[in-house]
Amino acid sequence: MTIHIGVDLGGSNLRVASYGPDGLVPLSHHREDVGEPRDPAAIVERLAGVIERIAGAAGPVTVGIGIAAMLRDRKGTVSNSPHLRWRDVAFGAMLASRLGGRFELGVYNDVNAITWGESVGGAARGCRDVLAVYVGTGIGGGIIANGALLEGASNCAGEIGHVKVRWDEDALPCQCGSRGCVEAYVGGSYVMKRIAAELGAGAKTSAINIAGGIEKVMPSHVDQAAADGDAWALGLWSELAPLLAVALGNALALLNSGRLILGGGLLGRAPTLYQLVETALLIVAPVATLEALEIVPAELGDDAGLVGAAHLAAAHVSTFRG
Ligand SMILES: [Zn+2]
Repeated sequence: MTIHIGVDLGGSNLRVASYGPDGLVPLSHHREDVGEPRDPAAIVERLAGVIERIAGAAGPVTVGIGIAAMLRDRKGTVSNSPHLRWRDVAFGAMLASRLGGRFELGVYNDVNAITWGESVGGAARGCRDVLAVYVGTGIGGGIIANGALLEGASNCAGEIGHVKVRWDEDALPCQCGSRGCVEAYVGGSYVMKRIAAELGAGAKTSAINIAGGIEKVMPSHVDQAAADGDAWALGLWSELAPLLAVALGNALALLNSGRLILGGGLLGRAPTLYQLVETALLIVAPVATLEALEIVPAELGDDAGLVGAAHLAAAHVSTFRG
């Protein structure tokens, strides 16, 4: 029996699961902290060890890896990964040479893998045109167009976090090196900074009580406060929601997606913000695209990337078919 392995390599966790022919129910599951050292050789060695242990004596084995990185090519060369602190790393080639010929590898951007996972067995099931947007620490996106994952000419299609929502002198700088990106306003690490700055400057809000202290306030607490009608929290969310909605609406004008999946660590725990984004989107998106659109929350959570990477790799070596 062919074994299909999915890997999710992020800045915090390394997760590996194996799947049988159905590709959805995991046969085994492994999780560890990425921790230190995180130089490429050390990570490749650890990952290869886990993959070999999970694969056992089975063969052939396909391995799909979703990695939190910008990839330069389809061989898994990482041009930049702020999460892993890698630049110009021939990750795919290193892992392939370490594992040897029994393993067929595919390396994918993590959000693309997540998007594909939702399409295989989650919120995008049965839909051929999908835009998936995840608001966590940053903002990532994945696009399925006409049934295929859209990777783009240099593998960076779907990077909706770096769509511009401001382009004036006051536009906020973004970690990508540009400024005015939607991520620099609505991405989790920027929202956290904004919350800390405003509370530090004396903003009054029930989010402080909900969190149990000024330094403990997270976006989820702001969301609860906003739901209770707290003026500061509602003000902040009402400023940020339209910025994300504009980025989404512009993307929909280009893509005419049938399903918009919204998820991620921040948005998934902020139902009030989610609602405000949805309301604003209904105003800014072209009416002709809204008629065909369903807006749905992500379903598979942390497993989406594992399922998606396993399926992408399997499809590329023609094993999940039929
Ligand atoms: Zn940016």
